[in-house]
Amino acid sequence: MSRDVAGPEIERLIQLLAKLPGFGARSARRAALHLINRKQQLMAPLNAALGDALKHIAVCSVCGNVDSIDPCTICRDNRRDPAVICVVEEVGDLWALERARAFSGCYHVLGGVLAAIDGIGPEQLNIAALIERARSPEVREIILATNATVDGQTTAHYITDRLADADVTISRLAHGVPVGGELDYLDEGTLAAAIKSRRPF
Ligand SMILES: [Zn+2]
Repeated sequence: MSRDVAGPEIERLIQLLAKLPGFGARSARRAALHLINRKQQLMAPLNAALGDALKHIAVCSVCGNVDSIDPCTICRDNRRDPAVICVVEEVGDLWALERARAFSGCYHVLGGVLAAIDGIGPEQLNIAALIERARSPEVREIILATNATVDGQTTAHYITDRLADADVTISRLAHGVPVGGELDYLDEGTLAAAIKSRRPF
């Protein structure tokens, strides 16, 4: 049994911080202390930002992206090409591709991948909306940017099958995406090359 070093309010803060990705108990304690020592400069604005974000979080009804407005900032941006839709697993992948600045079309976020072993079928993912979007006459190309993992590939094949009779070109990220690789971990240059050299699927 670990002993508490502070009162329940602070212990609770540490326990919650420890649930963040990349955080363990040790870094959670360091972060909590960092916040406590910067109560006005950091803790108060962070508290306000969390409250604001919580209040305004919206899932885009068009593409499944997360934003504070629906449709999302990307779907509303009329400088983007609505004829090309890049399909990604998670919002983190969309953010990674945006950081690479290699793509100016629209996105579709699946919210995961098909994984029979975990009971995740097409109904659990944002796939039906994608099939409908792809059938819209303004859409010409679907870029499948699921991860180069077995489940990512299975999902890409499934979507390709579902779109067999749709009038769209289906392409896949090519170069530089390592087998087993996850988009969120790739550098921007690799991602940019992968999207430029995409090939028919
Ligand atoms: Zn959107």
